[in-house]
Amino acid sequence: MRELLKNYNTSDTIAAIATFPSASALGVIKISGKKALKIVATIFKPYKKKNIQKIKTYTMHYGSVVHKGTVVDEVIVSFMRGPKSYTCEDVVEISSHGGVLVVNKILEIILKQGARLALPGEFTYRAFLNGRITLAQAQAVTDVVEAKSDAGLTAAMEQLQGEHFDCLEKSKNYLKELFSESEAHLNFPEEGIIFSLPQLSRKIEGLIKELRLLSQGAQEARLLKEGLRCVICGRTNAGKSTLFNRLLKEERVIVSSIAGTTRDVVEETITIGGVPLKIFDTAGIIGAEDLLTKKAMVRSRAAIASADIILFVVDGSRPLGKDDRALLMLIKDKPVITVANKADLKQKIELKVLPGKVVRLSALKNQGIADLEKAVHGFVYKHGVTRHDLVFLSRFQVVKLDEAIVCLEQAKKFLQDKHSFDMVNASLKQALESFGRLTGEIDCEEVLSDIFGKFCIGK
Ligand code: GDP
Repeated sequence: MRELLKNYNTSDTIAAIATFPSASALGVIKISGKKALKIVATIFKPYKKKNIQKIKTYTMHYGSVVHKGTVVDEVIVSFMRGPKSYTCEDVVEISSHGGVLVVNKILEIILKQGARLALPGEFTYRAFLNGRITLAQAQAVTDVVEAKSDAGLTAAMEQLQGEHFDCLEKSKNYLKELFSESEAHLNFPEEGIIFSLPQLSRKIEGLIKELRLLSQGAQEARLLKEGLRCVICGRTNAGKSTLFNRLLKEERVIVSSIAGTTRDVVEETITIGGVPLKIFDTAGIIGAEDLLTKKAMVRSRAAIASADIILFVVDGSRPLGKDDRALLMLIKDKPVITVANKADLKQKIELKVLPGKVVRLSALKNQGIADLEKAVHGFVYKHGVTRHDLVFLSRFQVVKLDEAIVCLEQAKKFLQDKHSFDMVNASLKQALESFGRLTGEIDCEEVLSDIFGKFCIGK
């Protein structure tokens, strides 16, 4: 992608399979560019006689793809004339029967007729180049493609429709204003511009607050999209496996499972209240004797270190033991929800010493699981950010946003400490630069190729 971006031109016509190549009912091949219709006219024979090169935009046509006199498949051809299409170019979509062979065959024929195979993300890249979508919206397309949960998908779709982009623009314009005021103050002090340093400081502070919320929201949105890494740990017989199976059984959506690997950590993805959870059961790692072995420690440490949240399972019918305490040390710096399991038995555990939110339940009897789900859900939305406020940003964008926040904090500190105003102004400028890259006013090939390079072909 990077090579291509260097001398990119939109003069060639690109094609790709837009659907997942599988034994599905339908397959779609997408073609975009000046020659889209011309190419299709050479391979498509409509059942009702007509000149394909003259068909109207937004129309569909039934017929067959014919190659060297042989019918390859019955298809429907849809046509969207540029600029009112996804890429702003002429776009033709051929819906064929699904299946890897047929779809590939049709694509192959189209390529022979002069189209070029699209690179991953190239359709969206053209939509961006032709001004139909912003960079953030392009990013949202990847998010839609990759989204693992309903909540993630909704948020990505909203961004794709441009709704959430406004708040970034607003903040950027506000920052621009602050910077221009500051420049004016610095360069034309004698012009008598009314300028209050305490007021500037308050404005900067307000902006920092807003951007922090945005950054937090973006990180939560990422969790929604990628799934929360949730590690279940606890000593042997605490009931981890029972809880793990209970969670899996309770949930209808089992998105993935890692089969046939030699890992000791079992991983499954489920959704709880629209939040995808990648659950790692460390049952195989930590046992009474095992905990002391170095290998087990290293593995459990790694699982715990990479977790977004720990479900620490204890046996409520017994007092805390040596192994529980050893685990408590391992997880002390992590967000934890403690599951006091075996609530159906006489309780001997002291709840006060347990970390995080404590949920009492019985995995065996299937009691209290809903409370656990609520606690997990609460963890994701802990900052009171409602789903609607979440803005999807790429990792790069979050880094730039956080950079802008740091620069603004710096500017505020310079103001408070009564440093030379030059330094305040320079920090504001830096903040604006970081922000500029985040909202898409960039032509830096590297950033673009990173974003578009992540797409699957056909998007
Ligand atoms: P792990 O070693 O932590 O994975 O623990 P398991 O899930 O294998 O459970 C150990 C034992 O505790 C099994 O005999 C389970 O049936 C039992 N157990 C698990 N959860 C509960 C519970 O909520 N109540 C009761 N009474 N027993 C439970």
